Amino acid sequence: METVAPFKEVIDEIKAAGGEAFRFCFQCGLCDTVCPWNRVRQFSIRKIIREATFGLTEIEGEDIWRCTTCGRCPERCPRGVQQIEVGVSLRRVASAYEVFPASVRSARTARASLISEGNPLQGQRASRADWAKDLSFKTHQEGMEALYFVGCYLSYDPRMKKVATATADILKKAGVDFGILGTKESCCGESIRKTGSEAVFKDLARENIKTFIDHGVRKVIVSSPHCYHTFVNEYPEFMVNFEVVHISQYLLELIHDGRLSLSREVGQKVTYHDPCYMGRHNGIYDEPRDLLNKVPGLDLVEMADARKDSLCCGGGGGRIWMDTPKDERFSDLRLEQAKTAGADVLVTACPYCITNFEESRLNLEYDDIIEVKDITEIIQAAL
Ligand code: SF4
Ligand code: SF4
Repeated sequence: METVAPFKEVIDEIKAAGGEAFRFCFQCGLCDTVCPWNRVRQFSIRKIIREATFGLTEIEGEDIWRCTTCGRCPERCPRGVQQIEVGVSLRRVASAYEVFPASVRSARTARASLISEGNPLQGQRASRADWAKDLSFKTHQEGMEALYFVGCYLSYDPRMKKVATATADILKKAGVDFGILGTKESCCGESIRKTGSEAVFKDLARENIKTFIDHGVRKVIVSSPHCYHTFVNEYPEFMVNFEVVHISQYLLELIHDGRLSLSREVGQKVTYHDPCYMGRHNGIYDEPRDLLNKVPGLDLVEMADARKDSLCCGGGGGRIWMDTPKDERFSDLRLEQAKTAGADVLVTACPYCITNFEESRLNLEYDDIIEVKDITEIIQAAL
């Protein structure tokens, strides 16, 4: 295939993206042994790193768009090569040239929707808070205990709206004085940044930060690990700091403080899937499990590839917006693992994971075999 990336520009872009460590790669190939792609098809991040070292990347191909930023290979690399940063910088070059393979074009639609409406799902900004219409919510104001940052999928996606409703219901029952931003909330921008659209990320981040300041926000509760990750690790680039807590951490805190009690039995066998941006990227492994263990009657079992070895659902790095052939979906493998563990319910805490697992459940015709739930839906059932 023709190589269109100019030598110097690729190398400069990688350096600018903070991915300079790619030069330390000594081609051991350990990264490829842990990459989930190699469970479904051949893919080599080692090869991408090698080609990038010489500025010889095929930016028009599919491969630079494959990485889900799952975080497995950086953990395994003995030379500290930052594979994710290198990959994102290559996507920046491809985006600058407007070179996109067919499977990636839907991510362009998501980008256009983010620019015009502040969400990737082509929902109107004006209807962002429609899910909460009948729930009498307050807009966040200074002095409130916390902001509930709902996120795009929970605001617009029909399946995920149920999770937003469950979350709000629990917070209300615990007497938390919280508000939402409604139509003023914009996408956190985490995933579009990973597709190489840096300017779109920065615009979204600045918009959110301004809204947080205008509304006197000090503490933010999030449902998505992607919002969590960018608020904690990326928004400080804009010189702001506010407290961020994932809902699974916050609910455990409410139980410990005696503000929330779980009294109803949930007599199901449940297995917990660690989302990449909760576990590997942010080290949150225990709180969701501790929370599930507080549910009366619930039997928590572990499946293969748990905790730091968690098998990615396939949705990170903007892959949630790209097309993945049916026989190449990691989420199908995860459902199989959950089934093998004997679980009645596959529980997780990320809108991308739920979206992918629900789709796999449909494709595999597992409707009667296993349920897919967000952790808040389990807690709501236990109230
Ligand atoms: S694990 Fe690190 S050093 Fe080894 S091939 Fe992969 S990127 Fe290179
Ligand atoms: S971050 Fe994950 S998906 Fe991306 S190359 Fe590494 S192991 Fe593969």
